[in-house]
Amino acid sequence: MHTTNPLKTRKTPFSDHPDTKDPQVTAPTALSTPSRRLLQLATTAAAASAALLAVASPASASTIVGSPTSYRLSTVQNPVLDRTEVVRWDPCTPIDFRINAALGGRQAKADVLTAVARLSAASGLQFRYLGSTSYVPTAGRAPLAGSPLVIAWAPPAGRPSGSSRIGAGEVGHGGWAASTSPAGHYRISSGYVVVRAGAPLAMGFGAGVTRGRVLMHELGHAVGLDHVADRTMVMNATVTPSSPTALYQAGDVAGLRRVGAPAGCIS
Ligand SMILES: [Zn+2]
Repeated sequence: MHTTNPLKTRKTPFSDHPDTKDPQVTAPTALSTPSRRLLQLATTAAAASAALLAVASPASASTIVGSPTSYRLSTVQNPVLDRTEVVRWDPCTPIDFRINAALGGRQAKADVLTAVARLSAASGLQFRYLGSTSYVPTAGRAPLAGSPLVIAWAPPAGRPSGSSRIGAGEVGHGGWAASTSPAGHYRISSGYVVVRAGAPLAMGFGAGVTRGRVLMHELGHAVGLDHVADRTMVMNATVTPSSPTALYQAGDVAGLRRVGAPAGCIS
């Protein structure tokens, strides 16, 4: 996601890089190690269940605007099953995540937890917060063991603890990697959100270029949503000083349900 300094008056909204090049799909031949680990954690991490995020109350229907068809899903062709599949997490397994907010600024962690709670409320996906990490997602690095989802702040590549996930001028980037389930279906096995350290984002979820809007957008990518042209939606690729209050709107919510609990377990 691209943005501009909200303190400067710049009329042309920046356009996000298409993130479609970012997701990675492994060959549907073997169950990857991260997927097995995720399943093991889901059945044994009783202690972590106390950290299960409370699901925020969904925004009331009257506050949600726009068209419920304004969403776009990531799909992959499954050559083994000879069908096109929507890329999504298994909604019947809680998604464990960690946060690296060392460079995120004041209340960064709180904004992440709020964004994840909103994502959970809209999608029905369950998330478990395992704590902080110093891990920085970057291209080619294996997912963090035991934490299939990581939300991190980092400078661009080339700087200490930099991430190649942050493109030139980008303020944030979200993506996923998929592998196959025992039954041969694709499912997301790891996901990430990287926010550029020092990006001029207002904290919270108000109107304009806010940290909350960027987090909600990139988390949308991390669960399988692509960009839409409809500027009403969080999954529109632009964030500008005139962006409305950060809320998943009708299209976002419809898309999140397609990749969430209503879509059913992945066998
Ligand atoms: Zn994007």
